[in-house]
Amino acid sequence: MQIAVIGAGASGLMVSGRLTSLGNEVTLFEKNEKVGKKLFITGKGRCNLTNLCDNEEFLSNVIRGNKFLRSAINHFSTYDCYSFFEELGLNLKVERGNRVFPFSDKSSDVIKTLEKFCKNVNIKYNTEVLDIIKKENKFDLVTSNGFYSFDKVIVSTGGKSYSLTGSTGKGYEIAKKFGHEVIDLKPALVAIEVKDDFISKLQGLSLKNVEISCFNRKFNFFGEMLFTDKGISGPIVLSLSSYINRINVDDLFIDFKPALDKKQLEQRLLREFDENKNKNIYYIYKGLFPSKLADIFGDIVGIKSDRKVNSITRVEREKIIDYIKCFPLKFKKFYALDTAIVTSGGVSLDEINPKTFQSKLCDGLYFIGEVLDIDALTGGFNLQIAFATAMSCADNLK
Ligand SMILES: Cc1cc2nc3c(=O)[nH]c(=O)nc-3n(C[C@H](O)[C@H](O)[C@H](O)COP(=O)(O)OP(=O)(O)OC[C@H]3O[C@@H](n4cnc5c(N)ncnc54)[C@H](O)[C@@H]3O)c2cc1C
Repeated sequence: MQIAVIGAGASGLMVSGRLTSLGNEVTLFEKNEKVGKKLFITGKGRCNLTNLCDNEEFLSNVIRGNKFLRSAINHFSTYDCYSFFEELGLNLKVERGNRVFPFSDKSSDVIKTLEKFCKNVNIKYNTEVLDIIKKENKFDLVTSNGFYSFDKVIVSTGGKSYSLTGSTGKGYEIAKKFGHEVIDLKPALVAIEVKDDFISKLQGLSLKNVEISCFNRKFNFFGEMLFTDKGISGPIVLSLSSYINRINVDDLFIDFKPALDKKQLEQRLLREFDENKNKNIYYIYKGLFPSKLADIFGDIVGIKSDRKVNSITRVEREKIIDYIKCFPLKFKKFYALDTAIVTSGGVSLDEINPKTFQSKLCDGLYFIGEVLDIDALTGGFNLQIAFATAMSCADNLK
């Protein structure tokens, strides 16, 4: 059987290698001069390739498509993924939050391992697939380097972010051509722009152990965040973005002291006010926040830094507490899709078989990886999705 795979990223390499080891003839088309350009930049160049957790926990980290993924993750779990790479000679290590990395800390070693796995795959570099035409039981591929004919075609072209790595969204076009619905594309795991003018003064500030929330804490994430030129980013902001990218959001709130409730915070402030009666309130702000934030906090809350502590009224003290626990930011928009870690949305799962990944609309056509309407949180889950969908597709392809 002659099989074409379009796109040599995480899912395309995995499916191609597996299919050849099962005795199939595979041609892998990659428009770049090399494979795995996006893989190379994953995990800040270290490639967090999976997350060592059980299937339920894995699925709880998948935002869109978790029910659909059950079969694939049962077929190729995160433990299977770990063993797969180790058996191919790649030493791995597990870090905080069960994140798995190559022991060398080099994403290039993950790519080399996948290339080794693909040693019998016919890889066509610098070859972009431009169109697919179905003729009876065959698929004709129109590429930048000529025409080819295949029995089956697997689309593994990725999402539409970080397009310089090659993922420009061609797979969505192909899907539409064959009658598939493509769910609206949205940036996920992405930074957020806010309207507040003061934000640029906080640029570069990074905070640990804070909470970001919205909709009365319906969505809330605790951990690390940072301020950018136009807004906010960092792990908890990226996580939040994936949950709210299809909702109209007005306000976001930061809790700078989530470990203290309002009462405890008030007691702390009362003690500090008492000990520093004759100092400027700026002294108290400096004790609460890093300098960049302390410098502008008084203006934001409307209680100027040069006010004496002993002049602060009870109402003003309560206002300070409110702003520490519930600091408002006006949502403007998400950063552009091209800067998102993953693309949310994609080929509708209703029209894809969750075991074989074959189109329900066109026999012999398959979709795997990020091109599907699936996305997950950070921690190695997105690559695990690419690998698990690839393995399930290859092992069930008849
Ligand atoms: C900065 C960054 C860091 C990330 N870090 C992590 C991480 O540490 N852990 C994690 O789990 N996830 C991470 N991700 C997400 C993860 O990289 C993706 O979810 C994953 O690579 C998707 O795999 P894929 O095979 O679907 O697509 P891709 O890996 O994007 O591969 C698609 C391939 O198809 C090729 N292609 C596209 N169109 C055509 C065409 N018409 N013809 C020929 N070839 C074509 C592209 O050139 C590309 O090589 C990160 C993403 C980014 C952007």
